[in-house]
Amino acid sequence: MTTQKSKAKEELEESIKGSVLSPDDPGYEEARQIWNAMIDRRPAVIVQCAQADDIPPVIRFARKNGLEFSIRGAGHNIAGNALCDDGVTIDFSKMKNVRVDAGKRRAYVEPGATLANLDEAAQAHGLATPVGINSTTGIAGLTLGGGFGWLTRKYGMTIDNLVSVDLITAEGKKIRASENDNSDLFWAVRGGGGNFGVVTRFEFQLFPVGPEIVAGLIVFPFSQAKQILTKYRQFVASAPEELNVWVVLRQAPPLPFLPENVHGKEVVVLPIFYSGAVANAEKLIAPLRAFGNAHGEHIGAQPYVQWQKAFDPLLTPGARNYWKSHNFTELADGALNSVIEFAGKLPSPQCEIFIGLCSGAPNRVAPNTMAYGHRDAKFVLNVHGRWDEARDDQKCIAWAREFFNASAPYASAGAYVNFMTAEEGDRVAAAYGSNYDRLVEIKRRYDPENIFHLNQNIKP
Ligand SMILES: Cc1cc2nc3c(=O)[nH]c(=O)nc-3n(C[C@H](O)[C@H](O)[C@H](O)COP(=O)(O)OP(=O)(O)OC[C@H]3O[C@@H](n4cnc5c(N)ncnc54)[C@H](O)[C@@H]3O)c2cc1C
Repeated sequence: MTTQKSKAKEELEESIKGSVLSPDDPGYEEARQIWNAMIDRRPAVIVQCAQADDIPPVIRFARKNGLEFSIRGAGHNIAGNALCDDGVTIDFSKMKNVRVDAGKRRAYVEPGATLANLDEAAQAHGLATPVGINSTTGIAGLTLGGGFGWLTRKYGMTIDNLVSVDLITAEGKKIRASENDNSDLFWAVRGGGGNFGVVTRFEFQLFPVGPEIVAGLIVFPFSQAKQILTKYRQFVASAPEELNVWVVLRQAPPLPFLPENVHGKEVVVLPIFYSGAVANAEKLIAPLRAFGNAHGEHIGAQPYVQWQKAFDPLLTPGARNYWKSHNFTELADGALNSVIEFAGKLPSPQCEIFIGLCSGAPNRVAPNTMAYGHRDAKFVLNVHGRWDEARDDQKCIAWAREFFNASAPYASAGAYVNFMTAEEGDRVAAAYGSNYDRLVEIKRRYDPENIFHLNQNIKP
């Protein structure tokens, strides 16, 4: 490192409580790993913040030295914008604290917390708020883009339960945004991603959940896919909101409840989650078994936090990943046919197509209530290309793109920014639909120079 550079680094170190890693420091290589192994970026410095007050000096440092900067929550975003090349990465991995006020049913969450950190702290009081389905995902990125998971049908999206954020602006000012303070900014951060500032604390509303819920999987042969999907569509149209059922089409993992000869074969999986009274679960779930002749099932009462980790083994960091996603208000026959066609030609053993159900509470929010506006979406379909070797990039990406195009005619307008890759910048305006113009106006006010541009960027 040149003397000039190390002097700048020393100055930064002296102005913050956290630590600063540059490429020759121990821990740098580990700190620049994120979930998607396709992203290989080398920041000039990674600042592992220890407190909210570390952020203004980091912003000043980046601006003074003409450096780009990126913000890393838990580093799960597929697009890889958590990291930058040759710039400054604000890394929140040392700020994971979650404080729960059980009396007020509120959680106060630092920006490096994962879903597991929030779920565990809230469940200690029998409480939870809707988040995603993989416990290592970051609360920060998930919330700023929207957030949906098993509890969403009943309690809404993650942003529907966000009460306030503390945020550092592009000018380095610390402000709070809520319905009562800086309400325009609060409108924008609920779906507008990291475009408006660095969030240093999230406040969520919590609900009584579990701690025991009923959940599990039923696994059907792929040959029955058409009837399963058709019956699924009919079933979920009137299922109670405490019950959530998704569909995953993939090769069967070696799950102990499946016969060995099914492992590695294409299957249709129904992941099931019921947060109502345990005693009521069986009669609600029973009709799902009659969708076909299942290879096997594993369903039972279990702690909510355990189910929140159920998919972690299939979603470990370190693989190469490429996603494409659509929203749907209904699952037309054509959409189901394309799902079946492409699930029938999976290009790698880890690729999958999933349909997430989010009908219910999210649909009762008016589209202009906050930046995320796709309130007609009842299903989110994600094609999850996942593989290990760079030599398979082309075939897996081509498969995902072809499926995306084949299913596009049946999709509703808009897209979910949290599932968009780096190359989908031209979908950003569509992702916000009629809320886009207001977002641009708020961006002009809070970040006219677009210093927060490593995200699905809203250009001022
Ligand atoms: C395995 C897996 C499962 C998933 N499952 C779901 C799911 O069930 N439901 C769902 O809704 N989504 C899901 N997602 C998508 C997920 O919501 C996004 O990838 C989200 O961006 C991840 O947040 P993160 O903090 O881990 O990501 P990061 O990559 O760290 O951050 C993403 C972006 O958010 C912004 N950002 C992060 N922290 C801050 C901050 N403090 N202040 C301002 N901006 C910030 C930055 O622009 C950053 O580039 C899943 C993703 C993965 C990889």
